[in-house]
Amino acid sequence: MKQILTLLIGLFVLFSCKNDTKTTSRTTIPTSELQKIDEMHGIVIHGGAGTLLKKNMSDSLENAYKEKLKEAILIGDEILRGGGTAMEAVTKTINVLEDTPLFNAGKGAVFTHDEKNELDASVMDGATLNAGAVAGVTRIKNPIDLALSVMNDSPHVMLSGVGAETFAEEQGFSLVDPSYFYTEKRYQSLQKVKEREKNKAVSVSFDDPYSKDSKFGTVGCVALDKHGNLAAGTSTGGMTNKRWNRIGDAPIIGAGTYANNATCAISSTGWGEYFIRAMVAHDISAMMEYKGVTLQEAARIVIQEKVPALGGDGGIIGIDNQGNIAMEFNTAGMYRAHINAQGELTIKIYKD
Ligand code: ASP
Repeated sequence: MKQILTLLIGLFVLFSCKNDTKTTSRTTIPTSELQKIDEMHGIVIHGGAGTLLKKNMSDSLENAYKEKLKEAILIGDEILRGGGTAMEAVTKTINVLEDTPLFNAGKGAVFTHDEKNELDASVMDGATLNAGAVAGVTRIKNPIDLALSVMNDSPHVMLSGVGAETFAEEQGFSLVDPSYFYTEKRYQSLQKVKEREKNKAVSVSFDDPYSKDSKFGTVGCVALDKHGNLAAGTSTGGMTNKRWNRIGDAPIIGAGTYANNATCAISSTGWGEYFIRAMVAHDISAMMEYKGVTLQEAARIVIQEKVPALGGDGGIIGIDNQGNIAMEFNTAGMYRAHINAQGELTIKIYKD
């Protein structure tokens, strides 16, 4: 009898709490909390890290980059402001960056040693810890959309190459001819890297500063929406002159991309081999989760200490579940932008 009574009281309490809350598709958050989250939502993007120096950049090119970053982030911001999901904001923002030749993702992807373009991308949903990724695709105009479809429409997390493209066709994606990704600038970069290799100016091309820096422009986006959910996404053409179906960190969940509502959302850019070995994106989240370290401090430790100690370089963008952000890099610059809940826009390329 006592047990039944306890059960009834329990059910009553549960039911009355429900009237006090708004229900999102996945989480139930009290109304007062939703009000707070409304004031915290935000979005951060990057367009790659590297030896970005003002002296090497014309005013018109700098403006072109800034304009594109602005156009992209405004799309995501509008989605968030309208109550859309962090994942929608992330993917739609990345689409803009994939569709311009300016960045090393989608249209502007760098060339492999075999003069092809092989693209990598991934997304992660902080509410469910669901993730999707594609690697080495050659006929997908917007790889971030296929990564999302892998997450939503397949039982898998990561698909690669021809199989990923077969899946894409089955999902109704129209495939582009690989020549869509041809840009003269990226093609000439590859020729220059190969020339240096031939002349034995370098033995391992990724160690060559020219080679490393001719890959600028991986793109990424992280967002916190009005429902309190985090999402992250990253899309890239990888590194110039890559061989043997090399896959970088961008499609590796935990290295290039990670999101967890308990902590933060992260997107990485840099020398992928080191970002995989340091598990950069998850490491930042883990420090927050297990040690209570702030996003900014965790990002600093990983980007300024752990990655350089291995010999790698690059950066990350991050946003935590309170809307605090980090844009940390150990290179000369990183294309980056942020819009907070108050609508304040920041766009930067160099250290400051
Ligand atoms: N992380 C990318 C890769 O290694 C390249 C980059 O971010 O610039 O494939």
